[in-house]
This record gives sequence, C-alpha cells and structure tokens, in this order.
Amino acid sequence: MNLFSKRTALIDTENAFKVGPYIAGIEKAGHTVIKCNLGEPDFALPGHIGAEIKRQIDNDLTHYCDPQGILPLREAIAKDMGEKRGLPITPDRVVVFPGGKPPIGLCQQAYTDPGDEVIYPSPGFPIYESFVRYLGAVPVPLHLHEESGFSFTGADLEKLITDKTRLIYICFPSNPTGGVATGEELEDIAGVILRKAPERCRVYSDEIYENILFDGSEHLSIASIPGMAERTIIASGASKSYSWTGGRIGWAAFPTVEEAQVFKNLNINYFSCIPAYNQMGAKVAIESPESKPAIEKMVSAFQERRDSVVKGLNAIDGITCQNPKGAFYVFPNIGAVCESLGAVDFHDKLPGDMKSKTSPATLFQMFLLFQYYVATMDRKSFGQIGAEGKHFLRISIATGLDDLRQGVERIAEASRDKDGFRAFVEKGQHLY
Ligand code: PMP
Repeated sequence: MNLFSKRTALIDTENAFKVGPYIAGIEKAGHTVIKCNLGEPDFALPGHIGAEIKRQIDNDLTHYCDPQGILPLREAIAKDMGEKRGLPITPDRVVVFPGGKPPIGLCQQAYTDPGDEVIYPSPGFPIYESFVRYLGAVPVPLHLHEESGFSFTGADLEKLITDKTRLIYICFPSNPTGGVATGEELEDIAGVILRKAPERCRVYSDEIYENILFDGSEHLSIASIPGMAERTIIASGASKSYSWTGGRIGWAAFPTVEEAQVFKNLNINYFSCIPAYNQMGAKVAIESPESKPAIEKMVSAFQERRDSVVKGLNAIDGITCQNPKGAFYVFPNIGAVCESLGAVDFHDKLPGDMKSKTSPATLFQMFLLFQYYVATMDRKSFGQIGAEGKHFLRISIATGLDDLRQGVERIAEASRDKDGFRAFVEKGQHLY
C-alpha cells in the first residue's frame, strides 16, 4: 500500500538531527559522547533577552499576532539589516518566520514551478537541496572546492545559470565549511548574476552566521552590490547570533512589498504567526547594547577553539584542515585517512544499494561515533548530488575547548586504528 504521495519520498533531511538518537543510545550504555554534530552555540541565552521574553509573557503577549511578524520587530530588523548593508530596507518588506530554516523551502515553493532550476552550494546547508525534487524543480549543485577556500567565482556560477534558473542560494559565512567570500569575489559573482541570470531569478543570501566572523573581519552581503538589492532575499535570524536555537525566530527581507505579502500569506497557511513574546525578545536582542559584548564573547571563544582544533587536526597524518573565516564549523579533508584505513576499498566493494546509502567518510564518521564516541557529520550530509569521492567531515566547534581537545585526540587515535576500523565495518552495523 502506498500510504504517502510520491512527492513525500523525494524530500531529504538534515542528518545532524538524525544522529541524536544514536548518541542517546550510546550515552544510555554509559559512554560520554563528544558532540560535534549540531550547529548550535553552546552558550546560554544572554540574560537581557531571556528577561524580556519573561516580561512579555507576563504582559500577556501570548496570543495570535501579525502573521508577517510584529511591527516593532520588523522595524528593528529593517533598521539593523539596512544600516549594516548600506540599504534602505523598510519593515513592509520584512517577514518573520519560525527560524532561519522555513524561508528556505518556502522560497522554493513561491518562486519555482516544476522543471525550474535551483542552484545551491555543495557542500551547503542540506535543506537547500532537500526541497528541490520534492517540489519538482531541478537541483543544480554548485560544487565548492577546498583549493579555493570553499568559495566560488562568477565563472563557476555562470556555467550553471540558464533561462530556467529561478533561485540561487549563497551562504557566507558558510555552513558547513566556514568559508567567507571576499568583497571582490562577491562583486564577481554579482556581475555574473546581473548579466546572465533571468530577471525573475532571485538570489537567496543566507546570512544567518553574519555575526560570527573571525580575525576581526566584517560581514559583507551580496545585496550591498549595486543592482543586487532588487534581486536578493536577505535571510538571517536569532538562532546563531544570540545562541537561541530554541526561540525559533528567523527573518528575511524581500526585494518588494508584494513578495513579502506572498510570504505573509504562506505564514498564515502554515504557522498563523510566531510567538509574540519571542519576537519581542528578538527585538531586544537586535537593539540592546548588551548584545554586542555577548556576541563578542562567544565569537572569541569560537576563534580560540577554531585555532586549537585546526592545529590539532592538521597535526594528524592524513588530515588537512583549512582555517575557517566564520561560522562555527571546521571541515577537514580526511581523504588520506579514508584510504589508509581501507574505508575507500571497503566502500567500493559494497553492493549497489548499500554503497549509495553510505560513503567512505560516512564509514569513518560512524566508526568515530560508535567506537571513539565523537559525533561528527559526513560530507554527504551537506548535499548528496555529486558528493561521491569527496572525503570530508564537518566538526562543529560549538562545544567546550576541553571536549574539543579530547575529540581531536580521539580522531587521531581512530585514524590509526586499522584493525578496529576493519572489525567495525565487518560487523556490518551502523554503516550509514
Ligand atoms: N541556514 C543555515 C546556513 C544554517 O546553518 C541553519 C541552522 N543550522 C539555518 C539556516 C536554520 O537556522 P534556524 O535554526 O534558525 O532554523
């Protein structure tokens, strides 16, 4: 019996959440897992934001509210987003969503018809790719390369744009690589979009990590390049900047009021509205002078961890790791470890259906999790199409420095444990 629509089989997922039950099982068996799988800052919600949420609950701000987002929050977003990017953004072009994630899929619903093309970075946030086939559109991955710091050029993008391109996702600072495009790179990319992309093609600039930048660098948005604001949806949110993933507050500024109205109506259909007390918390988060030092404290901790983890990983035979410029992930190349442990060979010999479910990096990821109790993510979890032969892990550094140091030590041990690896994969459990 086919209970579900054909479409349902076509949506993918975010594996970072799928690893959770495995971790729970391992911890129930008495082991402590070092959790480098989730993209969630390990800091407490800054007190001034929490206090405002509580105050607004006591104020009875617990009812339905404006489905587009309450005006005081949209005003705060428009002002802050506009000032930082040198753009005149008005509150009527801003829509608030329950997190940074919903507008990703909603944009594909609103801007694509079956057969239209969606370009997205790979490796990239998995939800970009996840929705494309579900909606009958055509996925067009833009493969990012280690050699170019996981950025891309206008020429790389140009090859993929056709008259059917409707959406181009870009994400800087990037999940999962921590890559950040320079101003010149963004100008080059924008030049190609302005010249080659159909006028109705929208750029979805996912700037959710806008506040998490290292080495004193400043956030740059492609929307600030002349001509781009008219085509760009600027998306961001409160989850990462304020260590508030459970608040479920994200937002996007659309090029026109008419577009914002379409998303307001999608909100009405899906969510009705987003809790007003949390929206008031987000307003305070954006406006309060207390937020800046809280962000700076978090970013400097991430930077210290980045330095320690990147150094530790590069000292492991068979691993090379770039220095991320933002976000809170490192993305080491584990190709030589996959070779030396025999993961590539083992994977090659797997039967077809099994082979496509896993990858050499996935086998190492599972070995690390079940034998060395370190939770990481494999390359394949950040865009499946064209991930074959690419051996990387994503390690979230949103966990304490001592744990991270221990995690790197465990990765080093695991990378030398040929017998342990063979025994693990030959058992045939947890291969993906
Ligand atoms: N975009 C990117 C690039 C992300 O990494 C994430 C979260 N991991 C999101 C969007 C979604 O964030 P939220 O939790 O606010 O839905």
